[in-house]
Amino acid sequence: MDRRKFCRTALAASVAASYPLLSACSRKEPPVAVTANTSLRGISLDGAEIELERAAIKELGESMTGPVMLSGHPDYDGARSIWNGMHDKRPAMIARCMSNGDVANAVSFARERNLLVAVRGGGHSWPGKSICDDGLMIDLSQLTNVTIDTDKNCAHVGGGALLGHLDQASLPHGLVTTAGVVSHTGVGGFTLGGGFGRLNRKYGLAIDNLLSAEIVSADGQVRTASADENPDLFWALRGGGGNFGVVTKFEFQLHPFDRNVLSGSIVWPIEQAKDVLEFYAEWSAGLSDELYAGPTIATTPDGVRVIMIDVVYNGDPAAGEKELEPMRKIGTPMADGVMLQDYTVMQTNLDAAFGHGVRSYAKNGMVKEWSQGLVDSIIDADDPRIFVANHVAGAAVKRVGESDTAFPHRNAEIMLVVVSGWADAAQDDEYIAASRAVYSAIEPHVGGYYDNIDFDGSGSVGNYGPAYERLSAIKGQYDPGNLFRLNSNIDPA
Ligand SMILES: Cc1cc2nc3c(=O)[nH]c(=O)nc-3n(C[C@H](O)[C@H](O)[C@H](O)COP(=O)(O)OP(=O)(O)OC[C@H]3O[C@@H](n4cnc5c(N)ncnc54)[C@H](O)[C@@H]3O)c2cc1C
Repeated sequence: MDRRKFCRTALAASVAASYPLLSACSRKEPPVAVTANTSLRGISLDGAEIELERAAIKELGESMTGPVMLSGHPDYDGARSIWNGMHDKRPAMIARCMSNGDVANAVSFARERNLLVAVRGGGHSWPGKSICDDGLMIDLSQLTNVTIDTDKNCAHVGGGALLGHLDQASLPHGLVTTAGVVSHTGVGGFTLGGGFGRLNRKYGLAIDNLLSAEIVSADGQVRTASADENPDLFWALRGGGGNFGVVTKFEFQLHPFDRNVLSGSIVWPIEQAKDVLEFYAEWSAGLSDELYAGPTIATTPDGVRVIMIDVVYNGDPAAGEKELEPMRKIGTPMADGVMLQDYTVMQTNLDAAFGHGVRSYAKNGMVKEWSQGLVDSIIDADDPRIFVANHVAGAAVKRVGESDTAFPHRNAEIMLVVVSGWADAAQDDEYIAASRAVYSAIEPHVGGYYDNIDFDGSGSVGNYGPAYERLSAIKGQYDPGNLFRLNSNIDPA
């Protein structure tokens, strides 16, 4: 077998299997068990029990293009299944929306009754914010349409589209924008929280590419938010999460892109992790905007603990090979799979490992700069049940001013993530405790966190930092009653 082919095979095996517990319990099809329970008990925003009149529910159903589903409807269980298997909740009603009108009717129904609302985009919220017991779930899962405007190099993306829909629609036109590392993640929550991806060093976060958004606010009105229209709202949407209403359409800037891109992973045994991280800490300070290189520590299914660096070089491959040379001289890699390959290979290589239905816990922190202390803490706290990943930022992410958008973590070089995944509910406490222990060890080296990748996140100053006060004022303007509270929540001023 030639070296390239061997490396590719070995790498594919090690990377695809790097998260054995996640792959082991991945659930391709959501369960479709049906119960006959058609109770119309609802819950208010304050947690009080309320009655939902059947006639009003019927009227809402008749006003909508999509169905309103109660328990017992054949699609009810599928619709309430979200990515993290920790959250098994039963909404009183699920409004499957097909249009702005559907969303507006569902929002007004909830507001008029003070009914708890959850908004489901791609359903990947770690803490399960897109589902609730006894409230109304506004289900955007059918709003996945993506159209590409090749004159203006922009994409119009439905509020329930997944990142894979966006990549699949733009790449055939030789265009791309920043999207995250797992293609079944929703564009909605991903973008509204910030949106880290392997191209963000060159193009910025997803919010830095957002040109406009169409949003149904708490009053049921459809608004456009852009630099020219409702600019305060546009500022708030870029980092402020789902606090301001239901976004039914996003418009993104696209960039010319050769999808045949130098990319892949280099893998070393864990014994070399300290050398790799010490090298990385110094080397990564001077990298070009084109190079994304993020270290991850994980365990293969045969129990081999490894460190790997994921690479995407968004530019001339020859220049990329040259920039990567020092990294390739570190220690003795088990596999080197960095090669010219289609961008979608990297953009989907974690999809199966992070399959639907896993029970999963995550915490993260922003790293302003690497230090020996951080390297030592990662190595000393290493636990084979936990993987530690680094979403690389810096470069274009850093060049946007701290207060230009509602996302304040512009100074960070890295968003360091601690994640665990398991199948058995009886192991919840064990895995959560193990994840927290690893996070505690590295916590002294981080400042602030990204609410999108945090199981315990609750909004507040830790996530929003100096943006909080302005966000609170804008929340007071567009959602004074805090109808949209199942998110990284901001108190209306
Ligand atoms: C496997 C996996 C990989 C990930 N990879 C990355 C990554 O590479 N980079 C990164 O930055 N993040 C990543 N994340 C985090 C991800 O960005 C968040 O989990 C995000 O909230 C997911 O959005 P969603 O629409 O799928 O989630 P949902 O659970 O549907 O929603 C999350 C929150 O956003 C709100 N929301 C969703 N859509 C809308 C909308 N259209 N209008 C208004 N509110 C809305 C919901 O109400 C909820 O509060 C990842 C998450 C997972 C589980």
